[in-house]
Amino acid sequence: MIPVEFPSCHSLAQLPTPLQPMRRLSRELGGPTIWLKRDDLTGCALSGNKIRKLEFIVAKALSEGADTLITCGGIQSNHCRATALVAAQLGLKCQLILRQDQSQSPQGNLLLDQLAGADIDLYESRGFAARLAERLQAAKERCHAQGRKAYVIPTGASDGVGIWGYVQAAIEIQQDCLQHGIQPGYIISATGSGGTQAGLTLGAHLQGLSAQVVGYAVCDNAAYFQRKVRDDIAQWCALYPQTSFPDAENLIAQLNIAIEDGYIGPGYAQASPQVFACMRHVASTEGVILDPVYTGKAFYGLMQDIRAGHYRDTQDLVFVHTGGLFGTFAQADLLAAETLPTLSVKP
Ligand SMILES: *Cc1c(COP(=O)(O)O)cnc(C)c1O
Repeated sequence: MIPVEFPSCHSLAQLPTPLQPMRRLSRELGGPTIWLKRDDLTGCALSGNKIRKLEFIVAKALSEGADTLITCGGIQSNHCRATALVAAQLGLKCQLILRQDQSQSPQGNLLLDQLAGADIDLYESRGFAARLAERLQAAKERCHAQGRKAYVIPTGASDGVGIWGYVQAAIEIQQDCLQHGIQPGYIISATGSGGTQAGLTLGAHLQGLSAQVVGYAVCDNAAYFQRKVRDDIAQWCALYPQTSFPDAENLIAQLNIAIEDGYIGPGYAQASPQVFACMRHVASTEGVILDPVYTGKAFYGLMQDIRAGHYRDTQDLVFVHTGGLFGTFAQADLLAAETLPTLSVKP
């Protein structure tokens, strides 16, 4: 175990979250026992994996005197919803830059963003990524012109600060496993902006865990996330030289960053009918609700890979349930059309 000194964090999440076995589903798959790390239970509306990262980012923003949080994402971003709610809880303002092509009535995460009083600018997806940095900067300057102090949080709260949340989670998972008397061979999660995987990979390394962290990509390919995870960890090294890792290259060279990118399907926030069917199966077998954007996609991939024998070398594995429930409601029509029976009203 390598001791590291954590920076200050602002408590937001209900921790520790439970670690629960999925006995029926695991038996049916004929593979290792899948243990769910219930990070969907970090809160109610303020829930999911982004809260762990925001605990560290918000502490930094407050220490710098920020009164406004600015961030960005897709129209149904869980991260933006979490940021909007955190801001409201702390009496800060929140400015969101969201990607969306057709305007729609507010639902899912967007509904909660609006209830939380976030200021929202919608932009079409064409050119969104290319102009993002410039728009975030402009939003920050507008705040400053009004005498406010803004802190810009990157997509998914994935950066050198946010990944502390999952370094800490890796330590929590290790304690959970000791308590349950298991030694999982793998810790698996959905990878969307890379910070969860970066934090888990770093945390597992620092703790000397034998478990391999595997990220199931939901949008970009493995080459992209190899770079993104390394960049986040390199930034972490640069920001916290006191962590005894001044040499980022040397540290990163020791990490095994594993990304499975075979289950992205049609694209970000677009799930195949198989993913919807998997969500229904998991819900009815284990009483656990996954989402079509992240956890459902990753879990579908995991189930396929277990069936194909990829995880035969371990008795237990941990799947981090990173949340996303409100994104499920936002795709209710598709989900129903793909996988639910039509109910008729009896006279
Ligand atoms: C953001 C998100 C992820 C992906 O985490 P990253 O750190 O962005 O890779 C997974 N699941 C849910 C529900 C999320 O909202």
